[in-house]
Amino acid sequence: MPELPEVEIVARSLSELVEGLEIAAAALHREKLAPAFDPKEFARLLSGGRIDSVGRRGKHILFELSSNRTLIVHLRMSGKFVLLEPHEPNPKFTHAELFFPDERRLVFEDQRHFGYMNIAETDHVSDTPEISKLAPEPFSDDFNREYLTRVLSQTRRPIKDVLLDQSKVCGLGNIYAAESMFLARVNPAVPANRISAIKTGRLFTAIRHVLRESIEQGLKAMLDRTNIENRYFNGSSNGSWLVYDREGQPCVNCGRALKRMKQSGRSTVYCPRCQRK
Ligand SMILES: [Zn+2]
Repeated sequence: MPELPEVEIVARSLSELVEGLEIAAAALHREKLAPAFDPKEFARLLSGGRIDSVGRRGKHILFELSSNRTLIVHLRMSGKFVLLEPHEPNPKFTHAELFFPDERRLVFEDQRHFGYMNIAETDHVSDTPEISKLAPEPFSDDFNREYLTRVLSQTRRPIKDVLLDQSKVCGLGNIYAAESMFLARVNPAVPANRISAIKTGRLFTAIRHVLRESIEQGLKAMLDRTNIENRYFNGSSNGSWLVYDREGQPCVNCGRALKRMKQSGRSTVYCPRCQRK
């Protein structure tokens, strides 16, 4: 599942590809993708707007249109965009299309059917249910040491759970939570309110570091309009994780075999020596 860096890479790639283009028409092929609208309404609301910008909030992609509407997209497990020329056929699981005046089209395909779209007035995007509860953006000034200290002090839940809670810390998923905790030498099971000030500071730095590094890696890869996600698979997820997906392999710090811990149905790989409780 894409986490913040992957969604950021997709958003930046889309902004390179479709910013400034007018949406001549739109089609919704799988109604559950945008449950608030029927296909007619979906097409009506998007048609005629120019794409002023493509951005991101949390793990959501935001297409801001000149018509004061914003298309909000969550890729979930397998949603992806491709920009196709008129002669190129649609992928098998095409769930929505945006058509441009030059007859190219932006296709949303989703093999596993978990993707989600909503359309909101641009001025009210931050009031929508998907955006309103999100914690501050990790690169914004509102996300700082004091904020993280306060959030962690308020709960006894294991730190791993808190890092995955998008209303507390925004943008982390299983991969970047594991990498951040390793860098900060924080045990995934430790109650959030028992983490020391020093470790909280390290965690804050680590969260920004792992996210930024991953975005930069991904953007180094070439942009392919028919395979945008290749950019982040080649970049961030290139197998250079410190702990994620490395159970049994030696810790890069101390050489001890990394272990896997299961919490709330999700597992975290960690170093039993570097990340002692
Ligand atoms: Zn270690």
